[in-house]
Amino acid sequence: SKTPVGFIGLGNMGIPMAQNLLKSGYPIIATDAFPESGKELQDQGAQLLDSPAEVAEKADRIITMLPSSPNVLEAYTGPNGILKKIKKGTLLIDSSTIDPSVAREMALASEKMGAVFMDAPVSGGVGAASLARLTFMVGGPEEEFTAAKELLGCMGANVLYCGQVGAGQAVKICNNMLLAIGMIGTAETMNLGIRLGLDPKLLTQVLNMSSGRCWSSDSYNPVPGVMEAVPSANNYLGGFGTTLMAKGLDLGLAQSTATSTSTPIPLGSLAHQIYRTMCARGYANKDFSSIFQFLREEEVQ
Ligand code: NAD
Repeated sequence: SKTPVGFIGLGNMGIPMAQNLLKSGYPIIATDAFPESGKELQDQGAQLLDSPAEVAEKADRIITMLPSSPNVLEAYTGPNGILKKIKKGTLLIDSSTIDPSVAREMALASEKMGAVFMDAPVSGGVGAASLARLTFMVGGPEEEFTAAKELLGCMGANVLYCGQVGAGQAVKICNNMLLAIGMIGTAETMNLGIRLGLDPKLLTQVLNMSSGRCWSSDSYNPVPGVMEAVPSANNYLGGFGTTLMAKGLDLGLAQSTATSTSTPIPLGSLAHQIYRTMCARGYANKDFSSIFQFLREEEVQ
């Protein structure tokens, strides 16, 4: 029978991910800063403990799925953190989206305790998490990849080795910066087309057969009425919140990693400022494709 897997962080993503591990036959030992978050999982058979340290005492493979860098620091190095009670040889996999330098710091601290740390942030939202269709971008020692993949494969469709620790986070930051820029480009293009008298459905159809095609134009179009089953068809509810895209983690991290590596990211920085402005103007909880609506409202009357 399979040995237990520790799971720390039972939020929107963590719950369905842990449920898929349970379905694959792994006993789960879990914890969350808010104990109520784990009630449903407990009913489904998981054991719920009070702190990351207690999970580390019992499991020799532990997955963390926490909001951002400070939460990961706390769960690892805090007074009731994983590293207080970790066993030698433990495999630690962090699937949160955090700063790659924090991932490297956690790897060093884990190594000192005789454990191995890997970063494995995900692409795909709550829907992909429920269907076990996430993409994992994994960084860490290559010889540990097979062991990590055994677990991550139960929660995702693609498990990709990206390089040494921090490399998974680096790939994730790059992907989301391009996504953020692409969405703004798509929204302003569609708006210009509409002002030029074009039917947005027709413009989308032609773009998607031409060199302007991108994920934001063909899978997540920001213009209401062009596609079904996307946030723009539902008043920009659900999806990926503008706050998350802006301070979230994603463009804020692109900005800070670009600064620390002296890399020019003119469009990434501008995208960051645009989404931050949207947050300040009441768009924080709408999907990030609401940039289209924001641009329409910015028009000079
Ligand atoms: P969430 O806020 O819903 O859940 C995080 C959970 O962690 C919460 O239940 C919180 O109580 C718990 N927590 C915080 N600090 C803790 C600590 N020190 N110890 C124990 N528990 C703690 O977040 P989420 O939507 O599940 O996202 C998790 C990560 O996945 C984030 O880094 C996010 O950027 C990334 N991500 C999210 C999505 C998405 O669509 N939601 C998609 C891709 C990646």
